Amino acid sequence: MQVSSRIVLKSGKEHSILRRHPWVFSGAIDRVEGEIHNGDAVEVTDQKGRFLAYGHAAEGSIAVRIFSFEQGELDRAFWKNKVQQAFDLRSKLRIAGDTNTTMYRLIHAEGDGMPGLIVDIYGKTAVIQTHSVGMHELRQLLAEILVEVAGVTSVYNKSAEKLEKNGGQRSQDEYLIGAQPDEICLEHGAKYKIDWETGQKTGFFIDQRESRFLLGQLAKGKKVLNTFCYTGGFSICALNGGAVLAHSLDSSQKALDLTEENLKLNGYDPAVHRTIKADAVHYLKNLEEDYDIIVLDPPAFAKHLSARHQAIQAYTRINEAAIRQIKPGGLLFTFSCSQVVDRNLFAGTIMAAAIQAKRNVRILYRLQQPGDHPVSIFHPEGEYLKGLVIEVL
Ligand code: SAH
Repeated sequence: MQVSSRIVLKSGKEHSILRRHPWVFSGAIDRVEGEIHNGDAVEVTDQKGRFLAYGHAAEGSIAVRIFSFEQGELDRAFWKNKVQQAFDLRSKLRIAGDTNTTMYRLIHAEGDGMPGLIVDIYGKTAVIQTHSVGMHELRQLLAEILVEVAGVTSVYNKSAEKLEKNGGQRSQDEYLIGAQPDEICLEHGAKYKIDWETGQKTGFFIDQRESRFLLGQLAKGKKVLNTFCYTGGFSICALNGGAVLAHSLDSSQKALDLTEENLKLNGYDPAVHRTIKADAVHYLKNLEEDYDIIVLDPPAFAKHLSARHQAIQAYTRINEAAIRQIKPGGLLFTFSCSQVVDRNLFAGTIMAAAIQAKRNVRILYRLQQPGDHPVSIFHPEGEYLKGLVIEVL
């Protein structure tokens, strides 16, 4: 990859880059030397022309997404080394190579020094999701490297939706290498059918692995309601942990069908499980069963700051309903994956819900995305998933 253009920052704007924050905002740019197109690799310098970083140029308020703070060649070896480092971390975490868990996140964008790039591994398939034109243009090279480093035999590019949303070029979802249409994967021994071609995200909500595990640990003898169930993961973990019944709720029939399929895969008799097609907010207002544990794992209610206020109201409403309805001593696993709602704001929202529901609540666990979704300490924006396990008295 050639770097022929430079972005020179305004005086004083180098400090955040020196602190390894990986974004250059358009307002920090003093001038551009050379011609720059969306997706080009560029060098970023301070006013005096001193090297700061390399990154991909983009359109919009984030003008450069930085992938290196060190000077050097940006060749195949450079990218292979980055992917290898990401793989080594997952090996260190004992996730890569675990025969009981065959799906994990291999590359988590800024958290792995590769902004704009997500790679999830599902058995022998890697699914790439690019959020920037720069990373998208590297997709074939990355696919080849993934085969070498992660030992996959098939690589699927699932970037069309994200790239379009981010104002980037059009992309076609397709196999870059091989063509394995779906696979049965394991998470802590539980089986799931993963269909990256038609499923949500890259196919599975890998980021909830540890939270599902915790639910399994606490579920023995309990009645569990899993709202926003998608693949039914929380229900399967609850049943594997000894729950006496699990009900899975989603507004999408496709999600409920997938849940049923996954339950069957894990050998469950339909008698211990029921699917409910409903709007969660509506359903939670009047529960038909006396649940011991309720899971609330909604989609991101706020993708942007402008939607934050409305999102808070929505989180308050569903949590208030669940807190009101759950039986005394019951546990609520409640989550937010909205990046603009931070941990403190989320806890405050749950407090407001508890006040409105007039119930006493204690926080037992604070949950987050697991280690294969690392967060650079210089880029707190990378922390998006937060959860609380609360006891409702
Ligand atoms: N808990 C899941 C992931 C949840 S994804 C897991 O562990 O994998 C969010 C799910 O919420 C999607 O399946 C979507 O269909 C569903 N959903 C969105 N809005 C909903 C609503 N108002 N009521 C019920 N389900 C909804």
